[in-house]
Amino acid sequence: MADVHSNLPALQAVTGDARDLGGFDAIWLLGDVVGYGPQPNECIEFLSDYPLICVAGNHDAGVLGHVRLDRFNHDAAEACLWTRQCLAPSSTRFLSELPLRHGVEDFVLVHGSPRDPLWEYVTASPQARMLAPWCERRHALAGHTHRPLAAYMTTPPASHHPEVEVCGSVKLDERLLINPGSVGQPRDGDPRAAYGLLDTTAGFVSFHRVTYDVAAVSDSMRRAGLPIALARRLHVGY
Ligand code: ZN
Repeated sequence: MADVHSNLPALQAVTGDARDLGGFDAIWLLGDVVGYGPQPNECIEFLSDYPLICVAGNHDAGVLGHVRLDRFNHDAAEACLWTRQCLAPSSTRFLSELPLRHGVEDFVLVHGSPRDPLWEYVTASPQARMLAPWCERRHALAGHTHRPLAAYMTTPPASHHPEVEVCGSVKLDERLLINPGSVGQPRDGDPRAAYGLLDTTAGFVSFHRVTYDVAAVSDSMRRAGLPIALARRLHVGY
């Protein structure tokens, strides 16, 4: 999963859904645990109940003051400052220990891309096709765009369709960059929380969407004094 963005109900919804679909061994989280949403400490606490591999996102770094806030748009910077002042010491410690990249089995986990783990948005296949030299393992798992994507990192064989369709289940052949979409702030026009189930033994990833109480999160953002546009966009999934 990626881009939880302090949205606890969405995080609870995707873990509940994954449990209903047969369970999981661990959560692999591709950065941006916090920023935008109203419950940063609660999300970090919730994750502590699970075996977890997590890398840092640009918002995690922004909240800690490790990157300059003028690299963010106005509302995102406001949310970083709001998050910074309400972060518990244990949450600050959790975020400061996150690596920029982590290799496990056949996968490199990053937030943005294997070339620029914090900032690069991989939005389409042609861009992914240039990234293989930066990826030290077979596949890359990334977030950051808040849109699900499965794309070849090398030129696929002629027998393969040049684009991998992101629906249902995708076979992990060739070298792929996989983005499961965003848990806490989807931007593909579908407000439901997004995540993927990765079966490393069978070599498949499946993409999933789950409904959660968007109105409750949006109300709690307004009450917390977070920028109103951030609350509104959750309703439309953008
Ligand atoms: Zn994000």
